Amino acid sequence: MPTPRHHVIIGSGSAGFGAATTLRARDPDCRISLVTLSSLPFYNRYDLPDIFRGRHDWRDLLPIMPAMYDELGITLRRNSRVVDVNGTAQSVEFAHRETLHYDSLLVCAGGRGYLPEILSDYRPLMHNFASFEAAMEVHTALPKGGTVIMLGGDMLGLDLAFTLLDTGYKVALVTTPQTFWPHRVDDQLRGKLVAALEAKGARVHGDSAPVAVEEGLPGAPARRVILQDGTEISGDVVMPFCGLVPAVEFMLSAGVDIERGLLVRPDLRTTGENIWAAGDVCQIWSDSDKEYRFYHGWRNVREMGELAARNMTGSDEEFVAEDDGRIWLDKGSNICSTFWEH
Ligand SMILES: Cc1cc2nc3c(=O)[nH]c(=O)nc-3n(C[C@H](O)[C@H](O)[C@H](O)COP(=O)(O)OP(=O)(O)OC[C@H]3O[C@@H](n4cnc5c(N)ncnc54)[C@H](O)[C@@H]3O)c2cc1C
Repeated sequence: MPTPRHHVIIGSGSAGFGAATTLRARDPDCRISLVTLSSLPFYNRYDLPDIFRGRHDWRDLLPIMPAMYDELGITLRRNSRVVDVNGTAQSVEFAHRETLHYDSLLVCAGGRGYLPEILSDYRPLMHNFASFEAAMEVHTALPKGGTVIMLGGDMLGLDLAFTLLDTGYKVALVTTPQTFWPHRVDDQLRGKLVAALEAKGARVHGDSAPVAVEEGLPGAPARRVILQDGTEISGDVVMPFCGLVPAVEFMLSAGVDIERGLLVRPDLRTTGENIWAAGDVCQIWSDSDKEYRFYHGWRNVREMGELAARNMTGSDEEFVAEDDGRIWLDKGSNICSTFWEH
């Protein structure tokens, strides 16, 4: 009996999870290892704002229960950080000093929140919203009716902002060039979108950049954000939402080409042998644009994971974007985005 192929997938988000189930459906005999930093199995992160609507049990967010991974023959390795990939030896190195061999590797490591350099020293005074645990921490830190100061306001953050406003909290939004990321908006549309945010109750600060985050003064809310023009904004929680930086640091010696993300051909192969990439971590070659492009949005990400899995098991397909990345105002002046259509 030949040894079954071992597919290792780094990342159990939308791309990695979709890839694992597709691999299993197409190759009943292969070995699949699905690796994640998270302590939880896959859940859709765009459901996280629902925590403010009372969804506090992480099990409610899971599309499949943990026992199903065993039934599908998918080895889920939680709390496992990959620190290095050796493309020549075809192996993955973990922070806990284990080495795992692969026959084919799919990197679906996503991205983490970008923070402008000037704010990086203030990270300990800010909250992120990248995981269920982080979202619950924000919920705990925020008093009833309290204020979130949002720096940037990408489409991930604005989704949360609308939920907060809907559930009785206040939002102070300091706009930056990353507001509405990943959409690119011209000045005219930007002005209309900002007006729509204000009409929904957000307090928008658009004239000056954030330069510092400080503890609140005694007797006042827990945080202050200082803008370049000296304005101080007071609130309970500060959250940066300034787009994503692809998580590629463990791939630096893997022998693959990297720009900002992992560079892949339209069939999602990297330049490394038997190494593929999908989701927010990769940039795909676009023949029409003559450049490598990111394709964010859950529909694109899920399609990439499934496509990579099909190509790893014998297909030869090219990626076609499922989400064209549009943002607009409807007749009622509500902000609509293909990113939010789920
Ligand atoms: C609050 C929030 C709201 C969002 N709202 C929307 C929305 O409305 N619409 C939309 O389209 N998208 C939304 N998104 C974005 C969407 O969730 C992402 O585009 C999508 O999750 C990307 O999927 P991915 O599989 O590429 O990466 P991710 O989901 O980011 O998964 C990355 C995986 O890689 C793992 N990983 C990373 N580094 C390592 C390492 N060194 N070792 C081991 N494992 C590693 C992580 O643990 C994780 O499992 C939202 C995201 C957030 C956080």
